Formats: sequence, C-alpha cells, structure tokens
Amino acid sequence: SPTDLVPLLDRIIDMLKPEAEERHIDIVRSHPAQKLNAFVDPNRITQVFYNLLVNAMRYTSSGGRISIRITDSSHDESHFASVSIADTGVGIASEQLPFLFDRFYRVEESRSRHTGGMGLGLAIAKEFVEAHRGFISVQSEVGRGTQFTVYLPCA
Ligand code: ATP
Ligand code: MG
Repeated sequence: SPTDLVPLLDRIIDMLKPEAEERHIDIVRSHPAQKLNAFVDPNRITQVFYNLLVNAMRYTSSGGRISIRITDSSHDESHFASVSIADTGVGIASEQLPFLFDRFYRVEESRSRHTGGMGLGLAIAKEFVEAHRGFISVQSEVGRGTQFTVYLPCA
C-alpha cells in the first residue's frame, strides 16, 4: 500500500532534533499542497532519508540550516514525488561528484576522518531508491552547501 511521505519524514526529523538543537542547526520542512503517497517500502525509504539527513548534519557546521522540500513532480504519464534535502554545509567539489555513490567512497579522507563513517550511506541510499524505480541526484557547491533530490514513483 502507498506510504505518505510527510509523516515518514517528520519521524526522521524528530529523531535528529536533539542533536540539531544542540548544534544550532535549523531543520525546516516545507509542506506539500496535498498528501504524497509513494509506492515504497517504508523501512527502506526511512533508511534512505535517514542516511541523507545524517550526512546533512554531519557535513554542516553549527549554525547551519537543513531544508527539506517535498513536492509533486509528476509530468505527463509519469507520477513522481520528489524530496530534496539541502544543507548549508561544506559542499562537494564537482570532480568528486561522479564517485559519491560508490561504496566506501569518502571525499578527502583526511577531512572526513574525524567525522567517522564508512562511506556506505549514499551507496545504500542509491541502491534502495533504484530498487523502487526511483532516482537520486545531487548538486553541490564547495563552501555553500549540497542538495540531494530523491524521486519516487507515487500514486
Ligand atoms: P557512512 O554514511 O557510511 O556513515 P559517510 O557519510 O562517509 O559514511 P556516505 O554517506 O556514503 O558516507 O557519503 C560519502 C561521502 O560524501 C562522505 O564521506 C562525504 O565526504 C560526502 N558527503 C555526503 N553527504 C554530504 C553532504 N551533505 N555535504 C558534504 N559532503 C557530503
Ligand atoms: Mg553518510
């Protein structure tokens, strides 16, 4: 059965609230006009958004902002919901972007070492999204921030 993405995302945001508050990171979510019911396995899609939001927190310094936008991006015969997660963090250089979803890939191991992590979160996210016949894209600018967008088939 279809899953409403709004409460699913709200539950993840609630999990991250304490750390966000401690680090003075603002998490803002825009409300879509109506319910967005996607054909997804709620557990797997929770893992996808959790991985993306943990990254946004981890690679954004105190005082930053994470913006989550849920929209209906259907056109013609294709029905998709899109969820974008934008942060005001360190950003990613364009030459790194092609490798970002590879298993065990981490940008500048030296920079990332103190932040921990295996380099698996994005590989898993991409795998799960594509298993739902969805897709994931990234845009980033060093020093300004990063935006991931997940497209999922919806009702
Ligand atoms: P894991 O998710 O396994 O704990 P990880 O966060 O290092 O470890 P990924 O989530 O796959 O691994 O991300 C890969 C790399 O992409 C990260 O090491 C980081 O360098 C970069 N990255 C991911 N998300 C962001 C972001 N929002 N801003 C800046 N860099 C990011
Ligand atoms: Mg990660």
